[in-house]
Amino acid sequence: MTRETLAEVLEKIAQLLELKGENPFKIRAYRTGAEVVMAHAGDIVGLAREGQLEGIKGIGEALRDKLHELATTGQLGFYEKLRAEFPDTLFELFEVSGLGPKKIAALHRELGVKSLTDLKRVCEDGTAAALSGFGEKTVAKILEGMAFNEAHAGIFRADAAAEAVEEVLEFLRGLEETSRVEVAGSFRRGKETVHDLDFLAASRKPGALMEAFVTAPFVTQVIVRGETKSSIRLANGLQCDLRVVTNAEFPYALVYFTGSKEHNIQLRSRALKMGWTLNEYVLSPHGEKGTPVPEDVHEERDVHRVLGLDFMAPEIREGMGEIEAAEAGTLPELVAVENLRGTFHNHTTASDGVDTLAAMAEAAMELGLQYLGIADHSKSSFQANGLDEARLRAQIAEIAAMNREWDGSFRLFAGSEVDILKDGSLDFGDDLLGELDYVVASVHSVFNLAEAEMTKRIIRAVENPHVTMLGHLTGRLLLKRDAYAVDVPAVIEACAATGTMIELNASPWRLDMDWRWWRLAKEKGVLCSINPDAHSTGGLQDLWFGVRAARKGWLTRADVINCLPLEKVTAVLGRKRGRR
Ligand SMILES: [Zn+2]
Ligand SMILES: [Zn+2]
Repeated sequence: MTRETLAEVLEKIAQLLELKGENPFKIRAYRTGAEVVMAHAGDIVGLAREGQLEGIKGIGEALRDKLHELATTGQLGFYEKLRAEFPDTLFELFEVSGLGPKKIAALHRELGVKSLTDLKRVCEDGTAAALSGFGEKTVAKILEGMAFNEAHAGIFRADAAAEAVEEVLEFLRGLEETSRVEVAGSFRRGKETVHDLDFLAASRKPGALMEAFVTAPFVTQVIVRGETKSSIRLANGLQCDLRVVTNAEFPYALVYFTGSKEHNIQLRSRALKMGWTLNEYVLSPHGEKGTPVPEDVHEERDVHRVLGLDFMAPEIREGMGEIEAAEAGTLPELVAVENLRGTFHNHTTASDGVDTLAAMAEAAMELGLQYLGIADHSKSSFQANGLDEARLRAQIAEIAAMNREWDGSFRLFAGSEVDILKDGSLDFGDDLLGELDYVVASVHSVFNLAEAEMTKRIIRAVENPHVTMLGHLTGRLLLKRDAYAVDVPAVIEACAATGTMIELNASPWRLDMDWRWWRLAKEKGVLCSINPDAHSTGGLQDLWFGVRAARKGWLTRADVINCLPLEKVTAVLGRKRGRR
């Protein structure tokens, strides 16, 4: 029994209760329970097994008993009974955007829809449109949602990939046949999503290593088994390839299998000009008059060196000018996780977070941060329990009192994630915004504006002197929801003109603003804030994903406000207001 299984059962119960049209508060209790189980810092499975869940906020009596039953017996009678009322395949429908539980229940009850295949049929043959509460427009939206899912099938977000990478690397490192092992491919390059994972190992006993790999406990399917390359599938569907090479081949193979393709093409043509052929295993003299091969190549950076290049971090190997910069010695020194001194944009139980102000502060201190910015939702985000003026003022006072306790050793910054309303005005007046240490402005509603209107809306918010930074600029949810239409360069331009920062939302669901835009932002002098948008203490760990994206955007510590120590950050936070 794992934490994930406990949470999954609670979430499924919530969905089943939704299908039955049960009381929303009851449904909410299960969903909150699932979030709390995932976010809890201790051994939640052990606590559930021993019946020690009392006092954990968000887990009431009814849930305590159910978690205890589940943790001790591996089953839950209440859940099994609910499940028996609906076919298992009906859960697939929850993945389709635009399709809520009420509609799923109606499709099931009225048309006998049991699966995605059924859903597609009734949408295409017109029967769904005739159902009360549906209509042509709804059906078109459902079909669009299904097409989106099909287009993104087999793609995984970096968080799902990261867990798998850790598990597979740990397993391979533990084998005596392994001399060296690394993850390569797009995951190593810090991409926001991956199709598969590429592992590379050096070994003197490739056969034994392969045997161990294809029979590892995480394998659910062996796709290909070969002497030097095998592919397997994990339980979550992710494909993992392992290639085994010799120690001498390893540096070349690591360069090659890390890619990107464009980067490799440029690297190969550079080698060719120097009289070498470069492939995935070796550097060799090209033709009869080829250059002799250098001998001291042991690491990846040696491959770069013999090609006359500074070491290029994996994240920037996209064939976007890194080779020219490496030749000229002008590569930036990329920001690293250990450079972060604090972070902004985090939620607490005051809005839709699961941990208290005190717990969030404590977690930040444990991570070695000197400050933490709080930015709970504003009142228009009612679905996220957004704060009204009175509740926000109370939070500002609470934060001030806590800061007095710490006496400068740690600081909470009082902020707000204030909604950008449809016309670009903000959810709070300037008087209240002026009382905050900083303000994150974000779009959370009315995503369907035309590009020009959305751009105008966001720029109007940016022009407010109290808006310190722009939150998740495009609103995308990776593999779930596309970005809304917005002219990103125009927004960057407006941020540069007004001295507004742009957030790099580090949640692996968002990674927004996208890494592809940061070089432009940097060139215009726009500061970045790497923000986890944490809704729990564990969410602070997402900073790691944000730093990867920042590195992909060629950012250095000087480009990121939250690399500044506490004694310097306050002045920079207040700089924009001071311009007036
Ligand atoms: Zn937000
Ligand atoms: Zn947020």
